[in-house]
Amino acid sequence: MLRKMRLFTPGPTPILPVAQTAMASQAMHHRTADFRGLFSRVLTDLKEFIGTTNDVLLLACSGTGIMEGSVSNLTSAGDKVVVMSAGKFGERWRDLAKAFGLNAEVVSAPYGETFRLEDLRQKLRPEVGAVYVQATESSTGARHDIQAIAQLVRERGEGTLLVVDAITGLGTTHLDVDTWGVDVLIGGSQKALMIPPGLAFCAISERAWKRMETAKNPRYYFDFRKERKAAARGESAYTPATALVAGLAAALQFVRQMGNGDVIRGRQALIENAELAAEMTRAGARALGLRLFARACPAAALTAIQPPSGIESGAIIREFNDRFGAVVANGQGEMKGKLFRIAHLGYYDYFDTIAILAALEQVLAQVTEKAVEYGVALRAAQEVYSHYRRESKVTASAL
Ligand SMILES: *Cc1c(COP(=O)(O)O)cnc(C)c1O
Repeated sequence: MLRKMRLFTPGPTPILPVAQTAMASQAMHHRTADFRGLFSRVLTDLKEFIGTTNDVLLLACSGTGIMEGSVSNLTSAGDKVVVMSAGKFGERWRDLAKAFGLNAEVVSAPYGETFRLEDLRQKLRPEVGAVYVQATESSTGARHDIQAIAQLVRERGEGTLLVVDAITGLGTTHLDVDTWGVDVLIGGSQKALMIPPGLAFCAISERAWKRMETAKNPRYYFDFRKERKAAARGESAYTPATALVAGLAAALQFVRQMGNGDVIRGRQALIENAELAAEMTRAGARALGLRLFARACPAAALTAIQPPSGIESGAIIREFNDRFGAVVANGQGEMKGKLFRIAHLGYYDYFDTIAILAALEQVLAQVTEKAVEYGVALRAAQEVYSHYRRESKVTASAL
């Protein structure tokens, strides 16, 4: 059959058609009133999308650029910090802390699991300047409890900053940045916001801005204070990715429409969409006898699934691609070959979710050379969907 190429990866994700059009028709110079208007509007909408009154920065880089900036701008060499690591992205925090000469204590959890709060509590001594964590660990499909982590950190008072990589958490899980007291929250364009890679953004608390006055680690492109001044004028310090900014404006407008004119409600609808697609996928995978990787704390951003025993996940990924044009992610690092990851963040609908599960039934039959009872994953997913529809009359009005 004809193959349509479709991304099911947790970044980049499928591109929103109206954002595609906006990017293709964009030809603005960045030091003009028109662009300043667009950039300021995007920053305002991003604040609503993140759910913060803190200043927001938008930069031309991938998510890791802002992760790096969140280390370099807030620390001096030798500072004590806590890094929470339960996967490849947690390990990125650890590596960044090392690159900037920090004295990092690691709170770890095995791949596929989340942290024990007690482990964090023990490491939170008064001299800890910052805690770095992911909202959702995209390499394992685990969700971390940012509300509980924030509560522990805030009990420490003003001296400890909380930096959250919500690059796949934003738009897939509820985050109340200001109420919980998150100091830096990081997002990226190629995840739930449905545009290509190349933009990253963050919200920064007053506590964190203050820290920057004394932090001495080197920084140049990622100098947040310089960006803050530029952002106040509707500009970025260096040439922004103008086409992507136009795409982001269109994507945020789409989110607003999802919320009937309200970005916050739109974000909530986007989260519910991902939650439902994730639950349908988990039910489908389980019905096929597959083991989920992050069973106790699954994220809505993506589902990590273990292949049947004796099968390399690479074979499943190849079959998805070769037969159906579906791009599914392998495990990262040591998890390569041991799991495959199906994304739900951003522009995925009922048809996408049902289709990837139907394809999974075919893929499994092929790679295991065993009979698969066609329809079992679909039936499980359909049950989840219709149950949600019965309940959602309540949910929709409660938005
Ligand atoms: C995608 C992602 C990043 C950023 O990766 P980039 O390749 O730099 O965009 C960081 N953290 C998490 C949890 C991610 O999913």
